[in-house]
This record gives sequence, structure tokens and C-alpha cells, in this order.
Amino acid sequence: MENFKIAVLAGDGIGPEIMKQALKVLKVIEQKKKASFELKEGLIGGCAIDKFGIPFPEETQQLVLKADAVLLGAVGGPKWDNLEFSIRPERALLGLRKLLQAFANLRPAKLYEPLIEASSLKPEVVSGVDIMVVRELTSGIYFGEPRGIIEEEGERVGINTLKYREHEIKRIAKVAFDTARKRHKRVCSVDKANVLEATVLWREVVTEVHKDYPDIELSHMYVDNAAMQIIRWPKQFDVMVTTNIFGDILSDACAMLTGSLGMLPSASIGGKIGLYEPIHGSAPDIAGQDIANPIATINSVGMMFTHSFNMPEIEVAIDKAVQMVLEQGYRTKDIWEKGKTLVGTEKMGDLIAEALETCL
Ligand code: NAD
Repeated sequence: MENFKIAVLAGDGIGPEIMKQALKVLKVIEQKKKASFELKEGLIGGCAIDKFGIPFPEETQQLVLKADAVLLGAVGGPKWDNLEFSIRPERALLGLRKLLQAFANLRPAKLYEPLIEASSLKPEVVSGVDIMVVRELTSGIYFGEPRGIIEEEGERVGINTLKYREHEIKRIAKVAFDTARKRHKRVCSVDKANVLEATVLWREVVTEVHKDYPDIELSHMYVDNAAMQIIRWPKQFDVMVTTNIFGDILSDACAMLTGSLGMLPSASIGGKIGLYEPIHGSAPDIAGQDIANPIATINSVGMMFTHSFNMPEIEVAIDKAVQMVLEQGYRTKDIWEKGKTLVGTEKMGDLIAEALETCL
């Protein structure tokens, strides 16, 4: 039985509550003797600021670098909102992604059929939706220099820079095509090549990389059209590959197709160590109330088994366990509808862990 070292960074807000449920799932996997784990907890975000004065302390960086994979809850909250930008909790996320060289962020948006009524779109539009957004994560406008707010001609000027190097586009395109190969063999590359030169290059390089993937169908779409098409007819998409900022926005739109932010996991890969986290934030408005949905975090554990531990069968089993619990009618508040059984975070974690025992 293989042993994996996992860095467990619960973070702030609902982070500790949802992480606790993910650990229940790991416990079942261990009890079923599929794998064993060495869990090392570390501080990140606001809780790290409280103790060390910075959001991503050296101690946590060392812990992360010694792990086989990193499981993250969420960071941030109103308590730290007035801090100077460079030491805000969210800066830790950028530092973590950079440290791990995790340049490819995979965000699946898949509808669980029992939740079809939880989507704000018509059932026939969302039924069967299964999109994988591949977002570039360590470059683009979130990192480009120069940046900042300066004084120019007597007024303040805000500056950010959209910059992509050829190798950065090449490597994310490869991840997208490889991902599509394991799915329905279609990639839609999203850019704004009619306005932004950096994405003219994006389109050119993606098209060049595509030459090595003749079995994959490639299309290109402007980001404004893509936003519209996601709402109009999402089933047309299989894999979408796009820049850091466009991916950030489009993947949240995709998330809503499936009912709730609380359902969606993510994997950030490309470096030696993978990072797994729910796509939502620390939800300070519901923290400590036992109402947060832990499924996004539990499904992030699933992705960890596929992408870091090469055990995709465990992700399939976790997915099946979640499906079973939803079919039995259990819902956290964010996905609850009339006639279904409302449960809290803890109970949802227990139910999925129990269901997993029968799926492994
Ligand atoms: P959010 O994702 O935390 O919350 C948005 C809304 O969704 C809230 O109403 C929240 O209650 C709800 N929600 C989120 N996760 C949920 C879950 N698991 N179950 C049920 N409901 C859930 O986004 P926000 O409110 O814009 O940000 C809150 C804080 O989180 C901010 O400090 C922000 O900077 C930070 N943030 C962190 C991350 C991260 O850690 N990866 C990502 C986004 C935002």
C-alpha cells in the first residue's frame, strides 16, 4: 500500500469546517487499505497573518515543498480586508501557485443529475453538462509587470500588464489537448484576439501546438461570445482552455450551471506537487454555522487521486459516493430544495464517508 504525504492547509472562514469533512474521506480510504497518508497541517492566509504577520510563512512553504500533494481549504475574510495589498491573505494563493509552479488549473463543471433543479438555468439546457475549464494560472495579467497605482500628470493611474510568453502558452495548450484526449476530444480556446495582442499570440501558439494532436478538434472563441455561449448552450463545450483572468471569470459562470459554488473542485498541476482546492472562497458569511457545502473540497480530494497519485479509480469512487448521497435526497443549504432533507456540513461529510465505504 502506497503512503502519500499531504500538506493540509485549512485556511480561514469555512476552510477548517470543509477540510474536516475531506479528512473523513481520506480516513475511509485508509481503512479500506487503498492507501495510507501522512497528513501535515500548516497555516495559510488570515490565520497565518495572525500568528506570523504574513499570509504564506516560510514554515508553511517548507511543509508544502516536502509534500506529495497539497490540499487547501480557502483563505481570506473581512478581518484582513484592510491590510496592505501585498500581505493580504489572498496573496498567499499567488505565492503558493508560483512556488509549486502549478501553471494549469483544471476546473471541472459537471452537473449531478439529482441537482438539476438547483441550477438557475432550464433543465434541458444544463442536463448532461460536463465541461473542463483549463485555466492558465501563473502568468497573464495577474502577474504581469509593470503593475500598481502611480501618479501621472497630476492624477492616479492604475496599471496592470497582460503578458504571455510563448512557452507559457505552449505548455497550457498541451495540458488542454492531453485532457481532451481522455474526454470527448474537443478543445475550445478562448481569447480576445480581436483586441489584445497577447491573445493574438495565444491563438497562434495554440494552433501550432494543435498540429501534434490531429485526433483533437480545436475551435477558437472570443471571450465575450464564450460567456454568452456558456449560458446559452453549455453542452457544446468539452475542454475550454484560456488565460488566467478569462479562466477565473468563465469558470465561475460554469460553476453556476451546476447549482452552487459549493460543488466544484479544482486541481492545479504542471509542477512536481499538485494543489487541490474547492473553487469557492472562505465564505465568511456562513463560517462556523455548520451550513457550508463540503462537496467541492471532497471532490478536490478525488482529483488529487487522479492527478497526483495516479489512482483515478478513487476519484470515480468518491464521485459515486457523492452521487449516491444526493440521490438519497440529502442537501446542504446552498443546494436545498423543497422535499429534500436539509443537512449540515458535518452530516454531509459523514454521509459521503459512509457511502464511500460501499463504493471502494
Ligand atoms: P466566496 O466563494 O467565499 O462566497 C461567495 C458566496 O458563495 C457566499 O454567499 C458564500 O456563502 C457562498 N459559498 C461559498 N462557498 C460555499 C460553500 N462551500 N457552501 C455554501 N455556500 C458557499 O466568495 P467571496 O464572498 O467573494 O469571498 C469571501 C472571501 O474569500 C474573501 O476574502 C475572498 O478574497 C476570499 N476568496 C478566497 C478564495 C480562495 O481561498 N481560493 C477564492 C475566492 C475568494
